[in-house]
Amino acid sequence: MAFPIDKIRKEFPVLHQMVYNRPLVYFDNAATTQKPQAVIDAIINYYSRDNCNIHRGVHFLSQRATEEFENTRKAVSSFINAPSSHEIIFTKGTTESINLVASSFGKRFISKGDEVIISGLEHHSNFVPWQILCNEKEATLKFIPVTPEGELDMDSFRKLVSKKTRIIAITHVSNVLGTILPVEEVIRYAHQFNIPVLVDGAQAVSHMAVDVQKLDCDFYCFSGHKMYAPMGIGVLYGKEKLLEEMPPYQLGGEMIKEVFFDHTTYNDLPYKFEAGTPNVEGVYGLKAAMNFIRETGIDNIYAWEEELLRYATWKLGDIEGVRLIGTARKKTSLISFLIGNIHPYDAGVIIDKMGIAVRTGHHCAMPLIELLKVPGTIRASFALYNTFEEIDRLAEAVIQVKQMFA
Ligand code: PLP
Repeated sequence: MAFPIDKIRKEFPVLHQMVYNRPLVYFDNAATTQKPQAVIDAIINYYSRDNCNIHRGVHFLSQRATEEFENTRKAVSSFINAPSSHEIIFTKGTTESINLVASSFGKRFISKGDEVIISGLEHHSNFVPWQILCNEKEATLKFIPVTPEGELDMDSFRKLVSKKTRIIAITHVSNVLGTILPVEEVIRYAHQFNIPVLVDGAQAVSHMAVDVQKLDCDFYCFSGHKMYAPMGIGVLYGKEKLLEEMPPYQLGGEMIKEVFFDHTTYNDLPYKFEAGTPNVEGVYGLKAAMNFIRETGIDNIYAWEEELLRYATWKLGDIEGVRLIGTARKKTSLISFLIGNIHPYDAGVIIDKMGIAVRTGHHCAMPLIELLKVPGTIRASFALYNTFEEIDRLAEAVIQVKQMFA
């Protein structure tokens, strides 16, 4: 079946506008994706029909919103094939999900002399929380090296694992290079030594099917806004046994069972980790986004985006002076590059003036940029609504940048 690109594009109102007198080309999807009308409608529906606080209300609106909220939790659980919906915790996004684990797991399981392993490919969100935790606990943070192609050095990884390793936290897909990491292999190896693994799925969930039971990961984190849902809503999946053993992350309403003057008892999962009023409209939007992905078919999305990646790699790679950064064997639809010695920022400004939104800089992964010995990169990241014609426009823009600096 041909991918229904025209129909899909019609569902994203933001795409149909002129920028600097040219039709907008949006290639900054790794930063955030645009929203389909169904997601926008879900938020409007929440505020124009159901707005109220959930869980504690006895009235009709509160019950209706609570039902939708909890149904979405079940939908998330089936979206990533979690064993149970009480292992799904709503957060603000990937950053909060990882901070929750680093803080709570760290309190319970990390002590002086222990080791934590991450990779050299991590976004600051899966880097800084572990760095600070290790500093505070006098533990050691170790890094899995990255090959020049942008892959994980698996031999070095195996040598890093020791009796002192308490947790491994790695990204599923690199937001700088698009590399799909061999997370299954990492998890299988770690589990031989009973070491839990957290996977940062921020750049994976909108591109490929994720099955947390098949991966057998202990934690999986992602953000709604990178998968066509609103900002400010995200998910932490955690295995029940670990979540039960971990202390609450934030304290206040909702996460308690009973409060006395001298002590407090905690609520059951997942509420133990959901202190305060949640982002209810975000949850409504997330449900609509998951429906949108399901109806389009994640395998169809993967196949379309793979074609886009192949075309862009050929088209940009063919321009003299363009250097592709990150040539891993398995990649999602993201391409990082440099044009000769032109600074990525200067190139980005000119590309923008041609109506094309790309991202330039360190992409919140400064240690990786240091490893790669580049000043940053220009990043074009594709989503399901992007087209081959748009990639042609990017290639033309790159040639113009070259000519301007010649
Ligand atoms: N992890 C990766 C791999 C990312 O690409 C990002 C965002 O770019 C994050 C984590 C942080 O996501 P958020 O800002 O939605 O919390």
